[in-house]
Amino acid sequence: MRVEDNLKQIKTAIHEACIKANREPEEITLIAVTKYVSADRAQEALEAGIHHLGENRDEGLLAKWEVLKDRPTWHFIGTLQTRKVKNIIDKVDYIHSLDRLSLAKEINKRADRKINCFVQVNVSGEVSKQGINPEEAADFISSLAEYKNLNIIGLMTMAPHTSDKDLLRACFRKLKDIQKQVKNLGFDFAPCTELSMGMSNDFSLAIEEGATMIRIGTALVGQEGQEVK
Ligand SMILES: *Cc1c(COP(=O)(O)O)cnc(C)c1O
Repeated sequence: MRVEDNLKQIKTAIHEACIKANREPEEITLIAVTKYVSADRAQEALEAGIHHLGENRDEGLLAKWEVLKDRPTWHFIGTLQTRKVKNIIDKVDYIHSLDRLSLAKEINKRADRKINCFVQVNVSGEVSKQGINPEEAADFISSLAEYKNLNIIGLMTMAPHTSDKDLLRACFRKLKDIQKQVKNLGFDFAPCTELSMGMSNDFSLAIEEGATMIRIGTALVGQEGQEVK
């Protein structure tokens, strides 16, 4: 499938979810997750009119960056090892996986400008998932004030692999609730206006529950066999 054709279907689904939720499609930023595909396919996504690309490993990001440079807006969406921050920091505009103080400190140290960061929250409580516990999210964010190069733009979560819509909705709602708590703190460094949630299988529900950035890989660019590592 051409990216263009997949994009049409996804745009239709975004519109439908927005109608249900009484929202505007312009409120939703679509990030094409290119971790499973080649730089050529990522380029096809750009040519189809997608401006935001997401990668979950430093190697994948660097390989695509070599080809596409700063034409896309780059999102780092995967678990980020502290020692790898220096490899990606000059290339990314958004980091979706801030989940510990040591990482905040390293981003702050390596960045020469403000980096938009999402605090990743483990709303489902699955042990396999990264992220701060929901109860600790507000305290964690409060502790980031000293890191001047971080702009806490929002919260990110990964919902469980399930077709249980009630469970998925509950996860997305929980992230929205935490967002309200954080906004109430009123910190300049944490406007927390964005919610990064929703992937190929659950983005419609995520939009209905308030997502502003959705991260779509498989349904948009497909998978070319092995994940590009
Ligand atoms: C791979 C990945 C996605 C996209 O997953 P799909 O199911 O292929 O849409 C989104 N977010 C993160 C953090 C990922 O690692």
